[in-house]
Amino acid sequence: TAKIWVLGDGQLGAMMRHAGMPLALDVRPVDIMSPSEEKLPLAADDIITAEREQWPESCLSRQLSEHPNFINGPVFGRLADRYTQKSLLDDLAVATAPWELVEDQTEEAELHNAYGERVLLKRRTGGYDGKGQHWLKQAENTSIPADWRNQAIAEQAINFDEEVSLVGARSADGRCHFYPLALNLHQDGILMASISPLTRLSPLQAKAEAMLSRIMDALNYVGVMAMECFRVGDTLLVNELAPRVHNSGHWTQAGCHISQFELHLRALAKLPIPELKPALPIAMVNLIGVDHDSNWLSIPGAELYWYNKEVRPGRKVGHLNLDASDNAEVIDALLALQTWMPEQYQAPLSWIMNELQ
Ligand code: ATP
Ligand code: MG
Ligand code: MG
Repeated sequence: TAKIWVLGDGQLGAMMRHAGMPLALDVRPVDIMSPSEEKLPLAADDIITAEREQWPESCLSRQLSEHPNFINGPVFGRLADRYTQKSLLDDLAVATAPWELVEDQTEEAELHNAYGERVLLKRRTGGYDGKGQHWLKQAENTSIPADWRNQAIAEQAINFDEEVSLVGARSADGRCHFYPLALNLHQDGILMASISPLTRLSPLQAKAEAMLSRIMDALNYVGVMAMECFRVGDTLLVNELAPRVHNSGHWTQAGCHISQFELHLRALAKLPIPELKPALPIAMVNLIGVDHDSNWLSIPGAELYWYNKEVRPGRKVGHLNLDASDNAEVIDALLALQTWMPEQYQAPLSWIMNELQ
């Protein structure tokens, strides 16, 4: 039977393989960073996907990306470059933070005139977890680093109320499927926690779905895509798109009978996708730079995903999904978790509890 190959073998690929198992889908993440010259046993009807939007040229990555069934092949490069991604959003008239390309002749003063006192420079490619950002502050006369010219965009600083994201999928027949919006908490540019579903976000759901549908339709996209947004009052501005399963969709592993990983596989394999019906509130907490602790497993309703990566400060090494039959039970789980977590987690965990009160 056909296999589903994944460009990349990090936690997203591993969770895809895990989701494929009960459906007897043979999912094969590939370490494309390896210098191996091995010839992969790719069949003509195999399907190729990716867990990342960018990858280095290697013997293995070439075999996968040149396969005729590499789904969404041209989309990856287009979204991996913020310049082409933001241009796409503008072309589709999907609202996004005002921006421009930082060119040879771009002057700091001109950026401040256009966007205000604080301007955020973002590297066109390679940024993640807030790495690849540089703030220009008029008051401090910060300047554009020389090697950021033509390699970065400049964005208006958005004074948003909060950050939300929509994870959805498009099937090959053009139908779109969506989970409810998730509320996201970032700290130092890294996603720390998500909560979904949240009743108070439901008035924004249709608007968000229309935006992501327009984007996926325009790209003739198949599979899961994530759209990160800033909420400013009743308005949503797209921050960025990810053509893959996404950290802010990890809550679906506990919150829906079809997780985002399974949804992606079903779309790729042209399997049926019934209505997605998440019901109970889930809090997803990322484990960032913390050592493994079996005590987490004693928390009622906690599901641990440990990525088996070397623990380093600021590195995502796992996540916990806290599920329960109501908000009060999630709060109990969060209180228990607080006792097992270091100082930098206390405020974010309290933030989630406030949201659920
Ligand atoms: P990710 O890990 O989500 O891929 P990233 O490094 O690609 O992150 P962004 O998502 O663009 O970067 O930005 C990271 C965070 O920085 C955002 O979630 C938000 O908190 C903040 N941020 C980004 N752009 C802006 C902006 N224009 N104004 C204010 N804050 C911003
Ligand atoms: Mg990003
Ligand atoms: Mg982001």
